[in-house]
Amino acid sequence: MDSTEQDCKGQDLAKQDLPARNSEEPGSAKQNSAREAVQNLTGETAPDLNLLQKRLQALGYTARVFKNRAEAAEWINRETDRTTVGIGGCVTAAEMGLYESLSRHNQVISHWHIPEGKTDREMRDLAMNTEVYLTSANAVSLQGEIINIDYTGNRAASVFYGHRRVIFVIGRNKIEPDFAQALWRARNIASPKNAQRLGRKTPCAVRADRCYNCSSPDRICNGLQVLWHAMAGAEMEVILINEDLGY
Ligand code: SF4
Repeated sequence: MDSTEQDCKGQDLAKQDLPARNSEEPGSAKQNSAREAVQNLTGETAPDLNLLQKRLQALGYTARVFKNRAEAAEWINRETDRTTVGIGGCVTAAEMGLYESLSRHNQVISHWHIPEGKTDREMRDLAMNTEVYLTSANAVSLQGEIINIDYTGNRAASVFYGHRRVIFVIGRNKIEPDFAQALWRARNIASPKNAQRLGRKTPCAVRADRCYNCSSPDRICNGLQVLWHAMAGAEMEVILINEDLGY
């Protein structure tokens, strides 16, 4: 038994119940043809951001499409001024430099930027009480479902309730043709990459190929959040960016 299997307390990884993408293994002909079908809606090789924008708006979100991260960051900075902003653990926001740019004219709270005298827990708590909350998602379906898998639940809680305004920043790589494939992506692409980033001793982090639904003490997947529709009680906005961002 190798070290990866020991992380999973000796379970037979090959027999674990794994999520399937359209009941097919990743990279299968069926999976690829579903993806191509979506891409062919516009004859392009990228997901149709304008179609997703329309569907999200029908679901109660304000949705906008940007060509690249610079234009999206400029808009967010223009719209978010002299207020308080919470940012969850968000690789997309980091790649867009949002903490740095927004901090120049807002009070930005992030547990990735802990000031002296504060703890990680205190920063997560403070970020839950800001006017604006910025986050990405692990996946978004072309029908508009927004999916996140969470470890501590601070991001999921902030998305569900408490902020005046919630802004999702979504790179095109997060968009999948349907709910099943979006869930598959969240579990088999986003979570393993997050486990790797965090240095977790999980089979997905070691092998970097898929989720093993592990029982490792280092497991990061504790809860699943699906938004079917914009939550009530807050302005819910989705920024779609025609660039690969985060994971
Ligand atoms: S940490 Fe999450 S993604 Fe990785 S194997 Fe465990 S359950 Fe799957």
